Amino acid sequence: MKVHNVEMIMSAVRPEQYPDEGYPEFALAGRSNVGKSSFINRMIARKSLARTSSKPGKTQTLNFYKIEEQLFFVDVPGYGYAKVSKTEREAWGKMIEEYLTTREELRAVIQIIDVRHPPTTDDRLMYDFLNHFEIPAIIIATKADKIPKGKVNKHLKIVRDQLNMRPDDPLILFSSEKGTGMEETWKEIKKRM
Ligand code: GDP
Repeated sequence: MKVHNVEMIMSAVRPEQYPDEGYPEFALAGRSNVGKSSFINRMIARKSLARTSSKPGKTQTLNFYKIEEQLFFVDVPGYGYAKVSKTEREAWGKMIEEYLTTREELRAVIQIIDVRHPPTTDDRLMYDFLNHFEIPAIIIATKADKIPKGKVNKHLKIVRDQLNMRPDDPLILFSSEKGTGMEETWKEIKKRM
């Protein structure tokens, strides 16, 4: 899909603030610095609509991007900052949990992980959470350009095994640098719309 029209329509922390168009939604989750903003920008072909390398302490909101009057990407603040306070972490947890477990428009969570390393504890907790609530996931193994081609399959297998992935959830090799995996990701999104 070639994206022409994207609007960052709103930041929300509470359900009353979510958009009411009823378009299908795909939430983006990943630990901080994993490459989530780069993924979004690559998918929508924008240099920097989604903020890259957002710093801890910034307002933690759900950001809704409306794409072609067809769907929303919902950018969820990155997880796994060691430095945030317990109160902040609890507020984050509550906001995300409320959205993920109650939002009817949510079709799948696109969970971004770094293909170079085995999934972290936080990555596994997030995936287990999706599993528990029976929320479909699309796993994006990004930064593919940083590992040699010959090692790709080995790395993907580690991701699949260590997350204990459900057979219906796709695992897509991605590179925001090169554009690898973009078409495949759009295909999987469209299937779930
Ligand atoms: P976020 O905190 O998850 O939104 O992460 P960012 O998108 O800001 O990316 C963190 C860092 O990783 C930045 O320096 C990006 O340029 C880099 N990065 C993200 N994706 C890729 C990728 O696919 N390939 C390479 N080589 N670098 C990437």
